[in-house]
Amino acid sequence: MKHDDCLFCKIVAGDIPAAKVYEDEHVLAFMDISQVTTGHTLIIPKVHTKDIYDTPEDVASELFKRVPKIASAIKKAFNPAGINLLNNNEAPAGQSVFHLHIHLIPRYKDGDGFDLKWVTRNDEFTPEKLQELANSIKEAL
Ligand code: 5GP
Ligand code: ZN
Repeated sequence: MKHDDCLFCKIVAGDIPAAKVYEDEHVLAFMDISQVTTGHTLIIPKVHTKDIYDTPEDVASELFKRVPKIASAIKKAFNPAGINLLNNNEAPAGQSVFHLHIHLIPRYKDGDGFDLKWVTRNDEFTPEKLQELANSIKEAL
């Protein structure tokens, strides 16, 4: 269902223009207005879901099903060295538009505009601790 105050629903409805890449009955892919790297693309479900928690399995399935096609087209178009997929959920994780979207961010070289700091803390997490964490998630499924 369309949400009147949602920017991406407005793009789906054609009320706000976007540089469209791909569209079918389930998804829309378009250029991110703020290009982190050249070719930075967003793919969204046409139906409004706020974030990953709010997303039914069939909507997630239709959305992710299209990602390889769009990623491959970006690779063919710009010949990047790699590509990152990113999905931010909730403001503390960097979500600023509250309609589910996956960023496709082609990568060119160090300092290309995108950076993902990844600090590992392996010594804190013994195999026993990992199993304990896994059990917590399993129990919540
Ligand atoms: P988030 O921060 O929620 O993961 O990503 C939202 C993205 O939407 C941002 O990268 C931002 O540049 C992009 N964006 C915000 N407003 C518009 C717009 O009006 N048009 C397009 N094409 N992208 C937008
Ligand atoms: Zn929406």
